[in-house]
Amino acid sequence: MDFRISDQIKETLNLIEDFMHKEVFPAEPDFFRTDFKELIPLLNEKRAKVKQMGLWAPNLPTELGGMGLGLLEHGLISESLGRSPLGHYIFGTQAPDAGNIEILHMFGTPEQKESYLKPLANGDIRSCFAMTEVNTAGSNPLLMEATAEKDGDDYVINGHKWYTTGADGAAFTIVMAVTNPEAGPAMRSSMIIVPTDNPGFNLVGNIAVMGEKGSDYNSHGEVMFQSCRVPQSNLLGKEGQGFLIAQERLGPGRIHHCMRWLGICQRSLDLLCERASNRVIDTDGRTLADKEIIQNWVAESTAEIEAARLMTLSAAWSIDNLGMKKSREKVSMIKFVVANTMLRVIDRALQVHGGLGMSDDTILAFFYRHERAARIYDGADEVHKASLGKRVLRNHQKSKNQKSHLKPLR
Ligand SMILES: Cc1cc2nc3c(=O)[nH]c(=O)nc-3n(C[C@H](O)[C@H](O)[C@H](O)COP(=O)(O)OP(=O)(O)OC[C@H]3O[C@@H](n4cnc5c(N)ncnc54)[C@H](O)[C@@H]3O)c2cc1C
Repeated sequence: MDFRISDQIKETLNLIEDFMHKEVFPAEPDFFRTDFKELIPLLNEKRAKVKQMGLWAPNLPTELGGMGLGLLEHGLISESLGRSPLGHYIFGTQAPDAGNIEILHMFGTPEQKESYLKPLANGDIRSCFAMTEVNTAGSNPLLMEATAEKDGDDYVINGHKWYTTGADGAAFTIVMAVTNPEAGPAMRSSMIIVPTDNPGFNLVGNIAVMGEKGSDYNSHGEVMFQSCRVPQSNLLGKEGQGFLIAQERLGPGRIHHCMRWLGICQRSLDLLCERASNRVIDTDGRTLADKEIIQNWVAESTAEIEAARLMTLSAAWSIDNLGMKKSREKVSMIKFVVANTMLRVIDRALQVHGGLGMSDDTILAFFYRHERAARIYDGADEVHKASLGKRVLRNHQKSKNQKSHLKPLR
């Protein structure tokens, strides 16, 4: 396993660091005070600068206008961008578009690539991904109820989805629906592209999440598909391949998320150290940084971030070099380890800030509210732990059948 990076990537990371300080962090107060829709012209100006510098979409192949980086290299960039909620958006690598671009690139027809992939990769439009349903457990998508029935040359889609991130303002969605009810559970569903101006696509509204409805990219929609008719040529990949395509989407997506979360960890720890070093806590002028318990939190946070980071880089290296199939255990592992590391670090940083931490005068309260979802989306902790635990036990049982290496003590 080799985590060395080229001088070119080091230089790119320096450029990004500089850009974050000059262009991204200063835009955050507007992000907190303004409706996202109103912020778009400003963000577009920043996107144009990123493109001019040749830093647009680090994860995308060069033929799509991206930097063509591997997962490990993109991961390091993602970590740097993740320190701000605007970083990924300004660099054209935000979820869920990044995942949709990947699957359109891998499975799209030439027509789909022309109509949807090209403008999406260029940042001219946005998209969303509608899989989770109001009435069935998202943790087991085999229970999915939305249907897409063939009628002439069309599919007619019916279903009730929610948590469709960024549905508000998106040009199209990729929806998961059952096309082959008679097939085995894992082969029943397909992905279908639906333009959001279709009269059968109805955005019921943005869900209030932790007290915030947001708008546009910064929102999560509830969507009704009501006799939503699209041509069968909008099918992505083959019929019944929905879960297979979803797997392709989720592996690299989890690396992106984890590295973004590590960026959040680092920013939270920096804030913690800054506040602890400056907050005078007694009449002798001692600061919070002089207190042992705070030193412990700093030490624990530093060690936990380092462990989570190495684990994530190892998973990224594994996907890049061995493929997704052989990297499943590592991907499950990082999903819950990094999410929980991040939440602990944010919590400690917020605690050190006292009342200031609860206010919106620092970014910590936003992180605290917004990032709690990390333990739920893309597979809840419990689902990843169950999957990892089962695999480890299966491997253990297999190897034990071949040769037992556990001698009884007596
Ligand atoms: C901020 C946010 C953004 C999202 N964006 C999108 C999006 O863009 N598109 C999309 O389709 N979906 C999206 N989701 C939905 C997300 O993927 C689902 O919420 C997730 O899959 C869990 O499904 P559920 O909410 O139906 O919970 P359920 O499946 O009902 O599970 C509830 C809880 O039960 C527990 N649990 C579940 N299964 C097991 C098990 N086997 N063993 C033990 N415990 C278990 C877990 O603690 C879980 O949190 C988003 C969610 C959030 C919060």
